[in-house]
Amino acid sequence: MNKVKTIAVIGAGIVGCSCALWLQKKGYSVILIDPEKPGSGTSSGNACTIADYGCVPVNNPAILKKLPILMFSRNSPLSVDFGYALTHLPWMLSFLSNCRARKVAGISRALGMLLQKTYDGLDPLIEFCNAKALLSRQGCMYLYRNNSEYEDARASNQVRKDHGFNFIEVDSNEIRELEPGLKLPFAKGLLFQEATQVVNPQSLTTRYFETFLQNGGQYLASRVEAISHSDKGPLVQFDDAENCQVDRAVIAAGAYSTRIKGVGTSQLPLDTERGYHVQYRDRQSLLTRPVCWNAAGFYATPTDEGLRFAGTVEIAGYGDHKNPRNIRHLIEHSHRMFDLPEQPDQDWLGFRPTFPDSLPAIGYSLSSEYVLYAFGHQHIGLTLAGITGKLISEIINNEPLSLDIKAFSARRFL
Ligand SMILES: Cc1cc2nc3c(=O)[nH]c(=O)nc-3n(C[C@H](O)[C@H](O)[C@H](O)COP(=O)(O)OP(=O)(O)OC[C@H]3O[C@@H](n4cnc5c(N)ncnc54)[C@H](O)[C@@H]3O)c2cc1C
Repeated sequence: MNKVKTIAVIGAGIVGCSCALWLQKKGYSVILIDPEKPGSGTSSGNACTIADYGCVPVNNPAILKKLPILMFSRNSPLSVDFGYALTHLPWMLSFLSNCRARKVAGISRALGMLLQKTYDGLDPLIEFCNAKALLSRQGCMYLYRNNSEYEDARASNQVRKDHGFNFIEVDSNEIRELEPGLKLPFAKGLLFQEATQVVNPQSLTTRYFETFLQNGGQYLASRVEAISHSDKGPLVQFDDAENCQVDRAVIAAGAYSTRIKGVGTSQLPLDTERGYHVQYRDRQSLLTRPVCWNAAGFYATPTDEGLRFAGTVEIAGYGDHKNPRNIRHLIEHSHRMFDLPEQPDQDWLGFRPTFPDSLPAIGYSLSSEYVLYAFGHQHIGLTLAGITGKLISEIINNEPLSLDIKAFSARRFL
């Protein structure tokens, strides 16, 4: 081991907890810092899928073609607050310019490389935390109502295939056999037979956190304001606690990562794609595996608490007001798919951390080699948390890396 002993991981979502565990497994003394209950942010309410086939970004040529319909239709999974968009024009324009086919090819290649290593990062943590019961390996299905929905997704599905993510095509009869609880007929589907889901993402992060504590990890329930740099290494600063001197710091604060001062993040174009879920308690037996109604922009997923409908994209910043339109979209479509009570038992809003190129920042920070970035995982942070933690531990431990991470360097924005 090198001379590094103590590492602060800032943010205890699924990404921060995965980094903390990987570092702990390699013998480091780790301090995990978060003012909120670990895992209770965006990591808690997602669609629960380990979507290792998710190498096609949301901003792709198919979206660009349909953008006017998507933005102005009442019945769309995409909504934009135009006031917000106008005040964040550079991010919006950059997000849209990355829809071009040439850009998407490069983005998918980089994401595909990272996603291929999903289970190299995830499985050892599941083993370490004795968490196998929190995963279900029943596969996952993409669904298309008609030929037009299927054709719209053809190019993206070809990209998945090209990057080695395999699926089989299923017809309407096979879909009915696989998921008899679906009342809406779907003409075609793709079955990712090997896909895994988490049965409760909050429980998974809690299990990671408890294992971390049992193995001697320290937890500080405070908000980090800034990090300054001294000869001794990074000095983590709070407004309500004493400063904390460490050898390395990892920024894993999800969509809020660029608010931490002194670590070069002010130069980074991180924003948020807001997303929602609604959940019907005790209705999970209607479904065996997550199914994604692609054109409607959400997954229906059985969790251990109920049937969850999670997805949609809203560009409207960090405020915690929920947009009734997004919630209505999920409720209306959930009723088309299944026999359900009139109202869900809960609705939820989360903040995906998204760079305009839909790639995360993993590796050295822009301020110092003693501070590392692990954020910006947009729609697939639950999936990529394990491999991100593994890579961060390899960098700090001076080991050969599991893959080439040049594409995820924050320097791409300079
Ligand atoms: C509707 C929806 C569905 C999704 N479905 C999936 C899916 O099926 N599969 C998938 O892989 N991904 C999915 N995602 C994406 C995934 O949930 C996110 O990418 C992931 O949760 C991001 O994790 P994180 O740890 O980076 O962030 P978070 O979970 O947001 O955690 C960040 C933590 O940092 C803390 N923090 C913030 N600022 C500070 C500070 N200054 N000091 C200390 N701590 C701080 C916060 O309190 C928080 O706990 C979905 C997202 C949404 C919204």
